Amino acid sequence: MTGLPPLPAADLGGGMAAALAAMPDPACAEFTGRFEHDLTRVLDRRHAVAVSSGTTALHTALSAIGVGPGDEVLLPALTVVMTAQPVVQLGATPVFVDSDPNTLDLDYTDAASKVTTRTKAIVPVHLWGRMGDPARLRAFAAQRELTIVEDAAQAAGTSRAGVPAGAAGAAGRFSTKDGKILWSGEGGFVLLDDPALTAHARALRGHWLTPPPGRRPQERLGLPGRMPELIAALAQANLRRFPALLERRRAQTAYLLRALAGARGLTPLQPAPDETWNHYSPLLRIGLPRPRAFAEHLAQLAVPSSTGSFRLVPCDTRPMFTGGERAPCRGAAQILDRTLALVLTERDDEAVLDRYAAVIIREAAAWHA
Ligand SMILES: *Cc1c(COP(=O)(O)O)cnc(C)c1O
Repeated sequence: MTGLPPLPAADLGGGMAAALAAMPDPACAEFTGRFEHDLTRVLDRRHAVAVSSGTTALHTALSAIGVGPGDEVLLPALTVVMTAQPVVQLGATPVFVDSDPNTLDLDYTDAASKVTTRTKAIVPVHLWGRMGDPARLRAFAAQRELTIVEDAAQAAGTSRAGVPAGAAGAAGRFSTKDGKILWSGEGGFVLLDDPALTAHARALRGHWLTPPPGRRPQERLGLPGRMPELIAALAQANLRRFPALLERRRAQTAYLLRALAGARGLTPLQPAPDETWNHYSPLLRIGLPRPRAFAEHLAQLAVPSSTGSFRLVPCDTRPMFTGGERAPCRGAAQILDRTLALVLTERDDEAVLDRYAAVIIREAAAWHA
């Protein structure tokens, strides 16, 4: 078995020391500006707006495209609550769409049946870094005049059919919370091309103090959503080693999946043929009885996963979001119940991964109905 490449030594603190030396300066946004500049280069979109979290990033993006009270927003049930939360906070209604268990992509038949005259936007979620077909998404949205805002929180570095995650529509939102491949403790950003949407996003994140051209400061409310300068300096340092971070995650996922080859009842999920996957999370289909209980059992043995550790369930089954009258999204439930999505960080070395593999192989062999 080939080992992991070493994680390159990095100076993550140099920029933070410089940012600290400039504090306190209420007007300073120098490090945020530098991080945004580098983001546009590395992730190849015209504009980047750095904010305080991934959730704030989606709130900012949806506000920029005009989502408000009375609107409906389509999003997969196969996601975390933080995708639906900004929709609710903007006074709009999240409408949950099922997913196809064979591809993990949106179930477009279900999506089509849920479009109404109030539907304003569609928010595909690239969960576990896996991206749906961008051509299909664009055709669906164009036919119905919906704006696309991607939840690419886990998908930095993924692309499909040549379209990078976060570049398929009007805006893409990302998170830099610890645990994402590009991390800064807390934080997030929006990628966009349109200058007017960008100006709205910049105004909104900072209490509408720097308004879009032609508008007055604080003529409306914004958010306490700026990225702190220290965090921006850290995020920029990590962005500089983003290729190495991606390579590390790819190697970790490949290493673990190789170690699990032959494990009873577990089959790796492959990316689509035209997909360049960031390998965010090793993904295995659980072909064992009581698959969700198996993931929960592994989590108790300190092998973390989306369902086992974070109890991820389809959003349409969460009482705070359900209207009650819709049929449940069964494809999403099936995907979550039967997928072991292991949670990695850049620190996980061969010893950690070897332990995960040994526990999984042993427990799968012993697992019964
Ligand atoms: C991490 C994550 C979020 C939330 O990001 P925060 O920075 O914690 O607000 C939202 N959606 C997905 C898919 C995520 O992975």
